[in-house]
Amino acid sequence: MDEEYGDAYPVEVQWWRPRRVTAADLRPRLVLLPGDGIGPEIVGATRRLLQAVGEFEFTEHAVGGASIDEHGTALTEDVLEACRGADAVLLGAVGGPKWDTTDPDAPRPEQGLLGLRKGMGLYANVRPVRPSPALVEASPLRPEVIAGTDLLVVRELTGGIYFGASGRDGDRAHDDCEYTVAEIERIARVGFEAARRRGGDPARVTSVDKANVLETSRLWRETLGRVAGDYEDVELDHMLVDNAAMQLVARPARFDVIVTENMFGDILSDESAMLTGSLGMLPSASLGVNGAPGLFEPVHGSAPDIAGQGIANPLATFLSAAMMLRHGLDMDTEATAIEAAVDSALERGLRTPDLASAEEEAVGNEEMTSAVIDSLE
Ligand code: NAD
Repeated sequence: MDEEYGDAYPVEVQWWRPRRVTAADLRPRLVLLPGDGIGPEIVGATRRLLQAVGEFEFTEHAVGGASIDEHGTALTEDVLEACRGADAVLLGAVGGPKWDTTDPDAPRPEQGLLGLRKGMGLYANVRPVRPSPALVEASPLRPEVIAGTDLLVVRELTGGIYFGASGRDGDRAHDDCEYTVAEIERIARVGFEAARRRGGDPARVTSVDKANVLETSRLWRETLGRVAGDYEDVELDHMLVDNAAMQLVARPARFDVIVTENMFGDILSDESAMLTGSLGMLPSASLGVNGAPGLFEPVHGSAPDIAGQGIANPLATFLSAAMMLRHGLDMDTEATAIEAAVDSALERGLRTPDLASAEEEAVGNEEMTSAVIDSLE
């Protein structure tokens, strides 16, 4: 049973339903959580961009390692409350070598993220993967392999091995993987609804599991099969996670919507990210129970290796902000404007170092941000 919501999961799924800002409250209240490493650079850049497309009320809070330094914990109750009370939350990234520890009792930055997901009731992580035409050459795959790729990874966020009981007993350690039918059903519905809205021909959900080995996967497969009965217009196929990992690099264009559990989704979505050429390009949204604010963040981490150098690619955060505007705030026009401005900057040849080939001259975060703002129409 879920601690926050008991067994009363909303079976009806509000897929992409925007959280409306009321007329009395015209300026959306955004909580910005820059986090660690390059987080402050990319969130700062995104704040500039957002100010260029609309009026928002911003509040900024520490999370992750920054919060450990300030408060001794990766997420304070006050910050969680601020997030719950916002219209939407934009996160940079958390973590870094400074807070790496093997002491199970020491606070860890990731606890901030897990605490946000749990505390905000976010159970679906959604990551679109569509390589930008201007970046086809930046992909490690051959252009003919990635041609036509347009997929969505829907990852279950609050169950599985990341949230099961774990512990150590002498030289043994364990992490338990658990899923309930209710948890599987609600994420399955997000996947089917997404496939329906995307309107692929055919619309297809690929459910990824390890049903030849794991009992949770057999429950997963059984539940997906049952839910599919409510979506006769969407094809369902099942794929073992090892095969899915292979197919993603061999034939990525075969996928429409991938629905999978927490840990498989964590790994497969990073693999999918590389199809676009750089982790620095991929946005994500974490959506929760009806009407709750969503959490929008780039897929990549805090990139401590390049933090503070002014060379972080801000585009994944810009595209996360676009997802936030469209899906969290009902500001479709502004979202489209940001996406078009990102495409336009790339088409004009601007590249941060992570995107640039050996022959291309790279620009920094600042210059890329200005170029995207200048491209806004
Ligand atoms: P990472 O995503 O931070 O970095 C992987 C590689 O990609 C690095 O070489 C980095 O420089 C590069 N990169 C990532 N984002 C980039 C950007 N916007 N522009 C240019 N280059 C970029 O992954 P990692 O190195 O495995 O992890 C670093 C830290 O981030 C760890 O502490 C990890 O726990 C944390 N992390 C946090 C999140 C999150 O907050 N959601 C996700 C993943 C990892």
